[in-house]
Amino acid sequence: MKIGIVGVAGRMGRMLVSEVLANPAAELAGGTELSGSENIGADLGQLIGAADTGLAVSDNVENVFNAADVIIDFTVPSATMSHIKTAAKFKTAMVIGTTGFQPEQLSELHRCGDNVIVHAANFSVGVNVLLGLTEQAAAILNQDYDIEIVEMHHRHKVDAPSGTALALGDAAAHGRIVVLDDVSTRVRDGITGPRPKGNIGFATLRGGGVAGDHTVMFASETERLELTHKAGDRSVFASGAVRAALWTGSQTPGYYSMRDVLGFT
Ligand code: NAD
Repeated sequence: MKIGIVGVAGRMGRMLVSEVLANPAAELAGGTELSGSENIGADLGQLIGAADTGLAVSDNVENVFNAADVIIDFTVPSATMSHIKTAAKFKTAMVIGTTGFQPEQLSELHRCGDNVIVHAANFSVGVNVLLGLTEQAAAILNQDYDIEIVEMHHRHKVDAPSGTALALGDAAAHGRIVVLDDVSTRVRDGITGPRPKGNIGFATLRGGGVAGDHTVMFASETERLELTHKAGDRSVFASGAVRAALWTGSQTPGYYSMRDVLGFT
């Protein structure tokens, strides 16, 4: 499979170059960065301190999509929304890890059906198991158990709560057969009043180089269940995304999640 990487000079982009180069089933097809980026023209190997690959960072999106069987996109929502149009034009599969989409952007993503799209707020296997466990626990534990989702990420992260925290909230809401937007409290500040029964609360911590910690808490008057996942480093997301990219080769067009890739939907 020929894999192209958009946003290739970003933190995840560079990780993805390493993962693709290390995977014998994958071949690097090219990488893009924003026009005007200081990295345009640099060899993709140079980005990670490795040997030259003969492929340069490009701002020609169409060329890279045309050369690739599948594109991996960990960029920003506006860029991803533009990339899905180019992918549809060239029938290139896409693996999307970008987070921070607005609801209308997410609806547009869900409607894409001309090519294979795998979209996940988190590509780690452990987090996808956590999503399943959260849904199950929320279905078993009634509203006497308050659900709180706590996440911590590195100081550079620009969106909050994290896409993974929101996905965990969605899984919990699904387990309770409610709609997350109807029951979520995303921020608390000042005189908030007592906690509404049945709400799903979020708390966000930012600092240092934390790759991604998530805890889902079920708190009753008499006991507390906590399900926690901690990412050791970002390579866990990159290897999951490359696994998803290789999986697209055997799929028919449609919108898929990482749980489809791992076979536990
Ligand atoms: P980053 O800022 O280091 O990298 C983003 C890169 O995209 C930058 O190099 C930027 O120049 C580039 N970019 C922006 N617009 C572009 C465009 N139009 N064309 C080409 N390149 C463009 O950020 P990061 O830490 O690598 O994270 C990127 C995204 O991935 C974030 O939304 C983050 O939350 C998400 N993320 C998801 C997972 C997951 O498992 N799904 C894991 C980690 C990070």
